[in-house]
Amino acid sequence: MKETSISASTRNLIKKYDFKIAKRFGQNFIVDENVLKTIINCSELSKDDYVLEIGPGLGVMTQVLCEKAGGVLAVEIDRELIPILKVSLFGYENFELINGDILKLNLKAILEENFGSSPVKVVANLPYYITTPIIMKLLEEDINIKSITVMVQKEVGERLCAAPGGKNYGALTVAVQYRCIPEKVLIVPPESFIPQPEIESMVVRLNFRDKPPVALKDEKMYFRVVKASFGQRRKTLLNALTAGNLGRSKEELKTVLLNSNIDENRRGETLSLEEFAGIANELSRQ
Ligand code: SAH
Repeated sequence: MKETSISASTRNLIKKYDFKIAKRFGQNFIVDENVLKTIINCSELSKDDYVLEIGPGLGVMTQVLCEKAGGVLAVEIDRELIPILKVSLFGYENFELINGDILKLNLKAILEENFGSSPVKVVANLPYYITTPIIMKLLEEDINIKSITVMVQKEVGERLCAAPGGKNYGALTVAVQYRCIPEKVLIVPPESFIPQPEIESMVVRLNFRDKPPVALKDEKMYFRVVKASFGQRRKTLLNALTAGNLGRSKEELKTVLLNSNIDENRRGETLSLEEFAGIANELSRQ
């Protein structure tokens, strides 16, 4: 096959199939060779690895994933892309394609069916309109993940990597950092995509921790406390927790905060992972 740049091959595929880019599915195809290489290198793939790709699009990155990894399972929502992907990935025995909505699938069952109990690496240029729910789904479902290497909006990348106290520190930060150590990899300009998104993007790698940084009696309680604390950013911690459907009265929560050594007038965004864990454990105790 003639060597073509991925920009030319993407344009050719769109033209050949008269493919109509669907804005509602957040379609921004990567056409920058260096960005693609960075994502691939960063995922550190070998033939022992199994990959879950979310939103393969035209399959340009998917081909490289199939070359490097032992197996690739791709989930694509857009029906129009399925016949194109079948042609692009023709001949790759280690490729499986599912036409579906990543947010609605039973990922655990599908991954087990394809890869048994092996851990997976998630590699994706995510659809930006659902970045946060996808990441939360990957974290909250009981899936064995080694790492997540993804392209996200720069603003979400900043939130994933934020430290306490800043404006980017929120529920997503605290949920992700409980499971993973995030790493900023690369800022990506709009010109690296067709069509160009309006904002800058970022490649982020989330490395899964061997064990959580704080001991929790009940993980679900931790996620509930985090959501409640950031639910009302302008409120004091006590008021946010009271409004947060934790099933406790204001007086009870006052005592919980007192026992956890946390000033009730602080704001959620100033609390560390350990402090959220302290509140969650105190709540699970009572
Ligand atoms: N990986 C390709 C395309 C990225 S664009 C590339 O880098 O060039 C995002 C992709 O996610 C699109 O293919 C879009 O159709 C797909 N997508 C959008 N919503 C989805 C969902 N809910 N489930 C699965 N795929 C989805």
